[in-house]
Amino acid sequence: MERETVQTDVLVIGGGGGGSRAVYEAKRFHPRLDVTMAVEGKWGKTGSTVWVASEALGINAPINSAEDGDSPEIFLKDIIETGLGTANQDLVKIIADESTDRIYELVDMGASFDTLNGKFVQKKLSGCTKARSLTRGGQTGVEIVNALRNASLGKGVNVIEEVRILDLIVRDGEVWGARGTRQGRPIDISAKAVIMACGGAGALFPHTVTHTSLRGDGYAMACRAGAMLSGMEFIQIGPGVVYPSMHFIIHSHMWRFSPRLKNRLGEKFLKNYVPSDVSIDEVISLKAMSFPFSVRTDARYIDIAMSKEILAGRGTDHGGIFFDITHISREELQDKAPITHKTFLDKGIDLSRDEIEIAPLVQSMNGGIKIDKHAATTVRGLFAVGEVSGGVHGADRPGGNNLADSQVFGYRGGQAAARFAVERSGDLIPAESGQILNIDSGADDKLEDIYSAIDAALMVVRNKENLDVLLNKIDSYRDNCDSLDVATDNILLVAEMIAKSALLREESRGIHYREDFPGTNKSYNRATLVRRDDEGAVEASFE
Ligand SMILES: Cc1cc2nc3c(=O)[nH]c(=O)nc-3n(C[C@H](O)[C@H](O)[C@H](O)COP(=O)(O)OP(=O)(O)OC[C@H]3O[C@@H](n4cnc5c(N)ncnc54)[C@H](O)[C@@H]3O)c2cc1C
Repeated sequence: MERETVQTDVLVIGGGGGGSRAVYEAKRFHPRLDVTMAVEGKWGKTGSTVWVASEALGINAPINSAEDGDSPEIFLKDIIETGLGTANQDLVKIIADESTDRIYELVDMGASFDTLNGKFVQKKLSGCTKARSLTRGGQTGVEIVNALRNASLGKGVNVIEEVRILDLIVRDGEVWGARGTRQGRPIDISAKAVIMACGGAGALFPHTVTHTSLRGDGYAMACRAGAMLSGMEFIQIGPGVVYPSMHFIIHSHMWRFSPRLKNRLGEKFLKNYVPSDVSIDEVISLKAMSFPFSVRTDARYIDIAMSKEILAGRGTDHGGIFFDITHISREELQDKAPITHKTFLDKGIDLSRDEIEIAPLVQSMNGGIKIDKHAATTVRGLFAVGEVSGGVHGADRPGGNNLADSQVFGYRGGQAAARFAVERSGDLIPAESGQILNIDSGADDKLEDIYSAIDAALMVVRNKENLDVLLNKIDSYRDNCDSLDVATDNILLVAEMIAKSALLREESRGIHYREDFPGTNKSYNRATLVRRDDEGAVEASFE
């Protein structure tokens, strides 16, 4: 099949918050460079940043609008403490120091955030000791990406839409571009610098609240190119809706309504999981402060209880748990959770009258491709920003930090990649010289078995037995496959990296819970690393 070929100086893969900031900065920093955004779907319509699935989407910056004494130093302390010893302190300091400037630049570009009496409204999210999250209701990410997209197009950035990038072009161990498929046809893009910004891997999981394009291609491509990844076992999972059919998370305000949780038999099961010296009311009120599952707080009993009830076959027909707040009036719902209330009404559900069904769902990844202070990866020519990058968050993170990370390292990565492209010697690889990718759909029935093993091994409750089952299934899939297409290879590689990291971490820490190792082991106060060895096998180790 004939392939499409493109040449550019800087290639950015992915058009969420991180990619949009990186593409803008690369072009602004070096206007004469040819800077290209390649994105699956339409720029501004895909990925988590623009995926409106919650009452409010927060971005952190220690602006101190709430006048509660917030500062970069306190922000730094919060991130380090919430990261439980595994976040990279050099990277974290950069977020604490630079997020405020990135917010004001967004405002200058036309993004607006909620204000009251002329001041930003800042809210306190989980893992934060101060109110530092800015929002524009649930549309915060849309505001950010729209502002950056308009500014980038104004500066002459090129855009290739409807493309799925699946592999990197590598010469002598260095990255020189990327390859993928565009409307069924192979495409090769040669570039002097590549910025990976294609988000997380939520779509690999049967239970997820993320956009379908987030299959973890970025992690797999980087690993195949020789890059190191860090903290892959840390996946942020929290309660979201499984019925009615929609993508929506059950955030703090919904837990403040003191919901009644019941299994399919109508049993209030929480009491079977919460120790007798811990109050159930207290556990529920802690959940209002901690959307993602984390062993850091007693709110963990809720996620563990829901997971175990569902695994034991006592879940609802849609694989969830009944969530009942019918004791709350319409007026109170309208007042305290207006976006949630309306979102459900649009689906024909009145929360003051109807139960819904919820389950633990994957929201985002904390680990990813290891980067330095300039978002450079361990492979020359490759940079990574946003959720696909690793080291910034650790075992748990303050709510609102992913968006902050995407802006701070999108800024740094865009500039560093532009500088690298200008200084790099050597010619671009002629696009038609490499092998054509095997891009068969990968929609193979046998993958269903892998997906259910992912669901059993990598969600809230983990143990060695289920992790081994998943790894064995991955091995036997590869052994029995004559020619593995690259999309399937990516899926298997990402699952393998997560499983091997989770297996290595024989303890429970933050958002990683091993029921066979429920305590925290102080000697594991380090990040896990994964990379391929010379034979192509994925190896996991501690930093
Ligand atoms: C429901 C929900 C609520 C959240 N709430 C918060 C919050 O309040 N605060 C916070 O900080 N974070 C929150 N997060 C996490 C945060 O939204 C993300 O981590 C962040 O937006 C990621 O930005 P990104 O640019 O790295 O990736 P994304 O915004 O996910 O963008 C990835 C881009 O890459 C594209 N892409 C993917 N694969 C390919 C490929 N193979 N080829 C080409 N393009 C590709 C996608 O289509 C998309 O354009 C939430 C996430 C969800 C799902």
